[in-house]
Amino acid sequence: MGRRKLVVGNWKMNGMRAHLDELEAIGRVAAAHPAVEVGLCLPATLIMAGSERRGAAFIGAQNCHMDISGAYTGSLSAEMLCEAGASWVITGHSERREARGETNEDIAAKSAAAHRVGMKVILCVGETIEVRDAGRAEEVVSDQLLASLPEGAAADWLAVAYEPIWAIGTGRIPTMEAVASMHAALRAALASRIGADEAAKVRILYGGSMNGDNAADLMALADVDGGLVGGASLSAAKFAPIIEAAD
Ligand code: PGA
Repeated sequence: MGRRKLVVGNWKMNGMRAHLDELEAIGRVAAAHPAVEVGLCLPATLIMAGSERRGAAFIGAQNCHMDISGAYTGSLSAEMLCEAGASWVITGHSERREARGETNEDIAAKSAAAHRVGMKVILCVGETIEVRDAGRAEEVVSDQLLASLPEGAAADWLAVAYEPIWAIGTGRIPTMEAVASMHAALRAALASRIGADEAAKVRILYGGSMNGDNAADLMALADVDGGLVGGASLSAAKFAPIIEAAD
């Protein structure tokens, strides 16, 4: 398919200035693997300093507001994040869908706002353990993707991350068969909305307890085009094997 692998770290609410040494080391690993697109989605406080030391890695944000400016105390617009040095943004992470009550409509609007200022988007979807156990994961996650997909979604600015909520930070991952089947279902859902040719170009990442031990198997699956990595992206020592596995 010719989709370039995309491996992105999500530092969540972790990282102080002292941590930028790790970022710099990750940037060097990225430079050694030019076939892989590598990025780090940082806490907003580190975006400016991080973008000066990023090497071959891109810098992303973890959320943005859907409006350009206004009376939204504590929020940051896509334009602000972009000016600070973020070229990508995560939208729809389950930690925001769940804890912040973000809806599919909010996520579509945030994704569109990011695109308007020239940023690229990683749109996250994923099921709860109850949905997985009920055998409804593919149906529910496909619906979630279609409901949060922004207008005009296209492969050159949007990637999808499938992150089973029960796999995030738990050390548990679905079976390889379940991941393969979900990614194929998500590509089919995308095809129904944006056409098969465009859907074939969209990168669909796996996220949730990805690490140096499971990354190669996951990324060998036909429709797995990279990873969105939390805990294992906080140090170059743990992130490097995942980047290598993608090469
Ligand atoms: P994890 O987090 O790799 O620590 O499980 C992934 C994510 O939430 O993006």
